[in-house]
Amino acid sequence: MNIRILGAHNIESAETGCTSIIIDDVLAVDAGALTSRLSLTEQQKLKAILLTHQHYDHIRDIPAIGMNFYLFEKTLDIYASSIVCEVLSTHLLNDVLYPNFAEKPPEKPALRFNIIEPGKAATITGYQVLPVTVNHAVPTIGYQITSPDGKKTFITSDTGPGLADAWRQVSPDLLIIELTLLNKQESFAYKVGHLTPTLLQKELESFYSLKSYLPQVVLVHINPLDEKGIKAEIRAAEKALKTKIRFAREGMRINI
Ligand SMILES: [Zn+2]
Ligand SMILES: [Zn+2]
Repeated sequence: MNIRILGAHNIESAETGCTSIIIDDVLAVDAGALTSRLSLTEQQKLKAILLTHQHYDHIRDIPAIGMNFYLFEKTLDIYASSIVCEVLSTHLLNDVLYPNFAEKPPEKPALRFNIIEPGKAATITGYQVLPVTVNHAVPTIGYQITSPDGKKTFITSDTGPGLADAWRQVSPDLLIIELTLLNKQESFAYKVGHLTPTLLQKELESFYSLKSYLPQVVLVHINPLDEKGIKAEIRAAEKALKTKIRFAREGMRINI
């Protein structure tokens, strides 16, 4: 399984992209940096996008990729909860802000929406995909993706603490998890559903106590304005857990 990070941060700039991860060039998780970071040839290889929640930094490129697939005369499958599908059709692809590519062109729409439910595994473009509920400000789904050769990654998306229920459902080789805030922002992290280095450490300790191992850990959704401070604070977690924690960056590739 080849995992490519297109966007590793929570805000966009010339140097940073919003959350978007692509597996083996065909399966994307979130659309924060899809069109801006993939060539037209690469975009045409995409088979499906899994969306985790409705926040703009995760769905922003759906209208853009819809327009591109319309012009490619191809159909792209989007998998998301019913809430996210509803939000997209009401607020973005509503023929006001941008065309409704789920109905255009009528004979072969550019986007095909598929509703997924937490806990119900599905086979999507040859991968086993398990949607798992995580804890965020709005209903959010993380995805465990298993390749045909049995390699597993769990991409949490935006989440706050309290992941024990999620950990019980997954057994990843690679965990791609968010880390947005500094330790001093802990009470805000609880309120809005994000993690700090100390909160991440506690969640990984909970993972270890339930599963008796730790997967490879890669962090995304980093606030670039605080990245230096977060890196310094994560060292304490690495020491306590006796494991290496890597920060994702735009263009990074990971093979498992
Ligand atoms: Zn969010
Ligand atoms: Zn986000």
